[in-house]
Amino acid sequence: MFKIALDGPSGSGKSVMARAVAERLNILYVDTGALYRAIGLYMFRNGIDVNDNEAVSSNLKNIALELNHSDEGQVVLLNGENVNKDIRLPEISMYASKVSAIPEVRAFLLDIQRATAEKNNVIMDGRDIGTVIFPDAQVKIFLFARDEVRAMRRYKELTEKGIETTFEEVLSDMQKRDENDRTRSIAPAVPADDAIMLDSSDLNIEETISKILGIIDETLK
Ligand code: C5P
Repeated sequence: MFKIALDGPSGSGKSVMARAVAERLNILYVDTGALYRAIGLYMFRNGIDVNDNEAVSSNLKNIALELNHSDEGQVVLLNGENVNKDIRLPEISMYASKVSAIPEVRAFLLDIQRATAEKNNVIMDGRDIGTVIFPDAQVKIFLFARDEVRAMRRYKELTEKGIETTFEEVLSDMQKRDENDRTRSIAPAVPADDAIMLDSSDLNIEETISKILGIIDETLK
């Protein structure tokens, strides 16, 4: 079994790349951000203050999370409900980022992430895959891009979905969330020492995929 860790900030293109690479290599794609989003969604729906670590931690016992994978991709079940759509609402992003800084939340999600790689070759996207979840991953890539480029991609994605927003709002939300993720004391979103850095600012999707496939090929051979 091999593991490919694809980490990086929001909007760097991780999910698009990971999905494409998984398809070409016929391996499993695991989107770990969806798990933090599901916890954020639970807190949002139940009016729990995500700045109150104790309130969040004591509610974890009420949450059962399941990750299912099929040909259609990944489905997250929150207490039995498919929440794939709701976890993508823009307001859930900051909830996810807030809960992700709480050590009990990260511990809660550790097993479910590790279990997915027990029986499958995986490419997993997240923030701490190469540093915490799989420090022994055979391939570690840290994908990044300039802030404005990432914000423009996210802005286009949201407006295409019919969600009303402005570029400035997307950029500022993204920068706040990145700052949270990068500076938290537990599992900060920083590259592993042995990660290969890949800047996608001036690459299109196909070029980025082929760079990633090239890195994987070089490393696994
Ligand atoms: O990747 P995505 O934007 O869906 O992740 C949502 C949030 O979940 C991130 O802003 C980050 O705070 C958190 N996250 C994390 N560790 C991961 C994946 C996501 O802390 N492995």
